[in-house]
Amino acid sequence: MECYNDRLVPADGEAIQALENKLNIPDHPIIPFIEGDGTGPDIWKAARTVFDAAVQQAYGGRRRVAWYEVFAGEKAYRLFKDWLPQGTIDAIRHFHVAIKGPLTTPVGGGIRSLNVTLRQLLDLYVCLRPVRYYPGVPSPMKRPELLDVVIFRENTEDVYAGIEWRQGTPEARKLIEFLDRELGKHIRPDSGIGIKPVSLTGSKRLIRRAIQYAIENGRRSVTLVHKGNIMKFTEGAFRDWGYELVKEEFPDVCVTEAEAGAAAPPGKILVKDRIADSMFQQALLRPEEYDVIATLNLNGDYLSDACAAQVGGLGMAPSANIGDQHGVFEATHGTAPKYAGQDVVNPCSVILCGSMMFHYMGWKEVSHLIESGITEAIRNKQVTYDLHRQMEGATKLKTSEFAAAVVGGMKAAITAA
Ligand code: NAP
Repeated sequence: MECYNDRLVPADGEAIQALENKLNIPDHPIIPFIEGDGTGPDIWKAARTVFDAAVQQAYGGRRRVAWYEVFAGEKAYRLFKDWLPQGTIDAIRHFHVAIKGPLTTPVGGGIRSLNVTLRQLLDLYVCLRPVRYYPGVPSPMKRPELLDVVIFRENTEDVYAGIEWRQGTPEARKLIEFLDRELGKHIRPDSGIGIKPVSLTGSKRLIRRAIQYAIENGRRSVTLVHKGNIMKFTEGAFRDWGYELVKEEFPDVCVTEAEAGAAAPPGKILVKDRIADSMFQQALLRPEEYDVIATLNLNGDYLSDACAAQVGGLGMAPSANIGDQHGVFEATHGTAPKYAGQDVVNPCSVILCGSMMFHYMGWKEVSHLIESGITEAIRNKQVTYDLHRQMEGATKLKTSEFAAAVVGGMKAAITAA
């Protein structure tokens, strides 16, 4: 019998297969999950209730997920004396799609990070962050609903490649001397050094995924966000390679702002670019003009959190790390350990991760139902403590009660349709 971390694989499911960069999803896919530390178990229980109800409602028993627990973080350490057992990595590699709750980052060295390890091993080069407003969520903006963007953030290069040398080390000195001697570039001798690689391959594959997403989901524009006015051969090259890709691979579907102005002809996707600092202003002042965004790692880090804050939903924001053959979906918030086991925290981030996951799998009906359920629950002001304390006249629900409200909201949305 097949097993990972000494746990048998469910007998009532099948593995997702990857065929030429396309996933083949069986009707009963095995999906590994990591429930997470701290409040993770409360959240996972609620999220799974919502997922199973949505799949049942969408397909009436024809399709079903065979959930398979894999381990990382504190639970893995308790069970196996290993924060990230090899079996967990092997299972996610084998089953292609996985979902995880928040994990404690243990203090002290020598611990592998699950995110970094998986990103490297499975080449998960897209960090995907959709940001949209759910009516009723408290927001600092007057019209938060105008922002509806999907951010594709490059996940493997730029400063995230982590190529750095500490000030005063022989390596930093050697590099400074080399640059001075060989390339005539002078750097203050007491500097730390970081390298910012941005490749043609890494940029094009990220931008390609963003454009493909825009095509498949009827989106209107793709904006390349960069700081190319200052860093011409990294950030500027990202923009240039993006436009090159449009010409090479999408000439019939895309039109650039230089060719068409601010509005693309009907049926075409407008490709434009913005300098990163201007993009932050635009997201606040003209949010309705932006749709899919493709950007480098550091810009994307800042921009996705800033956009999420605009819609009031930093604690509700979902995210995914995606490669050609794998997708790992995860909450953006931490373990909130002081609330562990109390059934009080907001499970929306993991629930929305699930919605993204089903969308990625092509089970769009499920994704749509989950979104409708959340929209309905929040519109009815049935919320957990974090939103309750900021909303007038809301009902405060426990985590499990909120899950039930989302399931009720899905049914109401179907009846209304
Ligand atoms: P945190 O767990 O995100 O909690 C900070 C505060 O955010 C909480 O006290 C709570 O605020 C609010 N919050 C977080 N999750 C919430 C939820 N589901 N519902 C409602 N409110 C929520 O951040 P932290 O305390 O800095 O980190 C705790 C542990 O999580 C650390 O070990 C950290 O490394 C880890 N972490 C993991 C991830 C991940 O796995 N993706 C991400 C970030 C942090 P109030 O008290 O004001 O209600």
